[in-house]
Amino acid sequence: MKTTASKTDSGWSISGSKTFITNGQNASVYIVAAKTNLAVAGSKGTSLFLVDGDTEGFERGQNLHKMGQHAADTSELFFDSVVVTEADLLGELDQGFLGLMNELPRERLGCAAIGVAHAEGALILALEYIKERQAFGAPIAKIQSIRHKIADMATQTELHRIMLEHYKKLLSEKKLTPAQASMAKYSSCEMECKVIDEALQMFGGYGYMQEYPISRFYVDARVQRIYGGTSEIMKEIIGKSIIGRI
Ligand SMILES: Cc1cc2nc3c(=O)[nH]c(=O)nc-3n(C[C@H](O)[C@H](O)[C@H](O)COP(=O)(O)OP(=O)(O)OC[C@H]3O[C@@H](n4cnc5c(N)ncnc54)[C@H](O)[C@@H]3O)c2cc1C
Repeated sequence: MKTTASKTDSGWSISGSKTFITNGQNASVYIVAAKTNLAVAGSKGTSLFLVDGDTEGFERGQNLHKMGQHAADTSELFFDSVVVTEADLLGELDQGFLGLMNELPRERLGCAAIGVAHAEGALILALEYIKERQAFGAPIAKIQSIRHKIADMATQTELHRIMLEHYKKLLSEKKLTPAQASMAKYSSCEMECKVIDEALQMFGGYGYMQEYPISRFYVDARVQRIYGGTSEIMKEIIGKSIIGRI
């Protein structure tokens, strides 16, 4: 993290930038993480600030062009000596990383929920299509390899739905651990992409056409394995929680 907040007489002055911010164009208030103590390494010495969208020195960059999720905006944000008051410090000074860590399991379970719902939706589309599409005189739903693929897709969505419902309960009881949230995010988003890929395959050439909603499922899903922490980083969190830091 390169964005810094330096102390002024009445508050803080924030300078830096951030790429890839969901709702960056539409938001009116931003939670900004900035280094407040450069003497300590890594995530330590980070604080969180509330920044109003019309504060001088704050600028929204371009709405980035994504391959999918066109209904959501993703932006660059720039901070050029943005002055905020002491009251805009969110939580304790230098403890911002802990604040982020406390909220990340909720965000990651949200990604898992999207993943499960998205896979369930793709399965419904595929089921409708294979019953109506005829090949060699019969609906393709009669082909055994297609039926087995549907069985795998349904089994995977069911398994992840059960995990999601269990973890939602743990979250509401404030018992969901960061590792469990990472397991849910990692596994559900990987599953989502595999199920949607299989579903699209069943549409043949039409699956590649934008007029068929399954093609939108495909491009919208891909980023799920990237944002909110990549699958690789999820595995790091899970691995460290099980093996410990060596
Ligand atoms: C559409 C979209 C919306 C986003 N919205 C937000 C938002 O609202 N707020 C926000 O803060 N961020 C947001 N992001 C940023 C997103 O969280 C990051 O892009 C993501 O965490 C990956 O970071 P990176 O792009 O820097 O990739 P990098 O960290 O450069 O990773 C590149 C590759 O290296 C791998 N890698 C990196 N480190 C390790 C490691 N230690 N072990 C194994 N593999 C590793 C990664 O898994 C990845 O495959 C958004 C991104 C996108 C694309």
